[in-house]
Amino acid sequence: MNVGILGGGQLARMLVEAGTPLGLEFLIVDPKADACAAGMGRFMHTDYADHGALECLAACDRVTCDFENVPADALAAIEDRVAVRPSAAALAAAQDRLIEKERFTRLGMATPGYVEVNSRTDLQAAVETLGLPAVVKTRRMGYDGKGQMVLRDAEDLELAWRKLGEYPLIAEQWVAFDHECSITAVRASDGELRCWPVSRTWHREGILRLAASVPVTPSMQEAAATLVRRLAEDLAYVGCLTLELFVDGDRLLANEFAPRVHNSAHWTIEGAVCSQFENHLRAVCGLPLGATEARGASALVNFIGSMPAPAPWLALPGLHWHDYGKAAREGRKVGHATLCASGTGALKALLPRLEALVEPGLLRELDSTLDQA
Ligand code: AMP
Repeated sequence: MNVGILGGGQLARMLVEAGTPLGLEFLIVDPKADACAAGMGRFMHTDYADHGALECLAACDRVTCDFENVPADALAAIEDRVAVRPSAAALAAAQDRLIEKERFTRLGMATPGYVEVNSRTDLQAAVETLGLPAVVKTRRMGYDGKGQMVLRDAEDLELAWRKLGEYPLIAEQWVAFDHECSITAVRASDGELRCWPVSRTWHREGILRLAASVPVTPSMQEAAATLVRRLAEDLAYVGCLTLELFVDGDRLLANEFAPRVHNSAHWTIEGAVCSQFENHLRAVCGLPLGATEARGASALVNFIGSMPAPAPWLALPGLHWHDYGKAAREGRKVGHATLCASGTGALKALLPRLEALVEPGLLRELDSTLDQA
C-alpha cells in the first residue's frame, strides 16, 4: 500500500520507520529541501498545494499528514479520489485556536476562559473579562510557543498588540495549573478507539521538554479518555489524535488538540505494546489496531537546539536514542531520548544518571511525580 504524507519532519520520519515493516511505501511532500524525512521514501520538494504533488498524492492508496497546518482546501479537493486520514475537515478544525476552543465548549469540555480579539479595544476588553495574567495567541499557525505572548501588566498589552496585532487573535485566561498532561488515542474507520496511558508533560517557553508515562489514577485516565473519545467521534476521526490538557485540582481543561501523532507520545515507540506511529498507519490503512498498553514506565526528553553526543547515555539500560538528523538551530526540536524501565521504582532509580542530560528542575519534578505514582 502507498501512503502519501504531507510534511517531511521528524514525525514523518518516525511514521516511515514504523510503517516500513508493515510493507507500506511512502511518498513525502515537503516545501523544505532539507526536510528530515526526505531520504526516507519517494520525496517531492514542493509546496503542499502544488498541483503536481496533489495529483501524486491522489494516486496513493492513503494520504496522511505529519503537520496540521497544510492547506485543508487543497486536501479536500482530492478526497473524492483518495482516503485522506484524518480528513481535511478534521485538520481544518485544529487550524484555528478559536474554532477549536468553540468546539470544546460545544462538546461540553472545560477550557481556560477565552475571548476572540480583533482590535486593540477587544484586547483591552478581553483582559478586563479574563483578568491578568492572560495569554494572547495568534488563531492560526502557532506552535511550540510561537505566536503567543503572556500578559502580566498594561505594558505587556501594548507590546503584545505591537507584536501580534496584525493577526486574528484569541486571548485566554492564564491557568495556574497543577500540571499538564495529554492523552493520545487512535481511532479506526469503523469507530474502534484505543487510548494510550496519559502522558505527563512539562513545557518551557511553550516547547515540550519532558514527557513521562507514569501510572495515573484510573479516574484520571477515564476522564481524559472520555474527552478524547468525544472529540474523536465528533470529528469522525481516523488515525492518532492527541488532546493536551491542564490539570487544575480535579478539573481537566482542554488546551488544544493535534490531529496527528504527537511529541508527548513518542515514548510509545519503545514503551508501549504498539506505538502511536504504527497504530496511526494501521488506522489510516484499515489494518487491525495494536494494543496501547504501556510496558512499564517511560520518560522522554526532547533535545532542543542541538544534539548531545550519544556515547555516554547509550550505556544506560533501557535508553533509546532518536537523532532526527536536523541541523542545529535555536529552539528547534532535533531529537529525543526515551528511558524505559520495568516500573516507576526502576525508572526513579535511573534518574540520577540523567543529571547532565536533563535540566535539574525538570528532573526534580519528574522524580516527585514518580514518588506520587
Ligand atoms: P499552546 O501552544 O497553546 O499549546 O501552548 C504551549 C504551552 O504554553 C502550554 O503547553 C502551556 O505550558 C502554556 N500555556 C498555553 N496556554 C496557557 C494558558 N491559557 N494558561 C497557562 N499556560 C498556558
